[in-house]
Amino acid sequence: MTTLVTGGAGFVGSHLCERLLDAGETVIAVDNMVTGSRANVADFLGNPRFSLIQHDLLQGLPELPKVDRIFHMASPASPPAYQRHAIATLRVNAETTRQLLDIAVRDGARLLFSSTSEVYGDPLDHPQREDYRGHVSSTGPRSMYDESKRYAEALMMAYHDAHGVETRIVRIFNTYGPRMDPGDGRVVSNFVVQALRGEALTIYGDGSQTRSFQYIDDLIEGIFRLMNSDHHLPVNIGNPNEFTVLELAEKVLRIAESTSEVHFLPLPPDDPVRRRPDITLARDLLDWQPEIPLEEGLERTVEAFRQVLFGDQRTGRQSPAAQSRAIS
Ligand code: UDP
Repeated sequence: MTTLVTGGAGFVGSHLCERLLDAGETVIAVDNMVTGSRANVADFLGNPRFSLIQHDLLQGLPELPKVDRIFHMASPASPPAYQRHAIATLRVNAETTRQLLDIAVRDGARLLFSSTSEVYGDPLDHPQREDYRGHVSSTGPRSMYDESKRYAEALMMAYHDAHGVETRIVRIFNTYGPRMDPGDGRVVSNFVVQALRGEALTIYGDGSQTRSFQYIDDLIEGIFRLMNSDHHLPVNIGNPNEFTVLELAEKVLRIAESTSEVHFLPLPPDDPVRRRPDITLARDLLDWQPEIPLEEGLERTVEAFRQVLFGDQRTGRQSPAAQSRAIS
């Protein structure tokens, strides 16, 4: 089986590549390294079944062999990153998705699109089920992400109907874990880096807004099962345990054994008040549910970030991934 992973050197994409390699697949990763990095794939770069093409998908698709499966994971995903790369975000979700759908038609390949809980916007229904149509701004500061993901879902459905493409659509809820870019700007990476460096934790607003944080391994398992299912409609993959941002800050401080202060900063406009997936569909369809509680996931994440930021304190050495990150 030959599998293409766009965004394969990103946070989610790299974990997915690793999982697919473990399952015996031949994996071609394409990444422009804007939010991805070589450090993320350093642990399996030498695997003969893995190849990495450094390429900007906005220039069109690279020359590709016949593929069996495609995971379209390429897109900035943290609000500061997609706002900084607004037009690229719109294009990679809209134009690149269409080009990949044409490859899926050409090769008879199955295509999984990485959609997002942001298709629900600032939700009025809680928790969010897949049939909730959302509360989204088409012009607001998150619109480049939310609306291009919504458009891509529509495109997937149209190709499914017109060409019989085997579509899979995963709506990913907040995910964290090792290989998040420390400068990515998302809440878990920000808090962990700040706690480890002894800097103040930056809480936007009063910290009462909620999110439901899922550990990366749980997400990858859900995506893997979804691709192998026969369900062509969107499926939520997320952890339904909901926490306020303030609770998250307290947990990070305790787990990192940090004495950092907490600073309250203005809440960015259009920041969703709450978010929590209804995962009934994933449970029924994929026999999937998250296994890693927040505390355990945060412990692993804090350890991984400690490595990346300071190296292994026992041996004084850095892992290959950490070394490569330091160089790149
Ligand atoms: N947030 C925060 N401090 C930070 C980064 C984010 O309080 O340093 C808040 C942000 O305002 C939002 C939540 O944490 O309410 C989750 O933000 P993130 O950027 O991780 O993802 P989102 O779910 O908003 O896309």
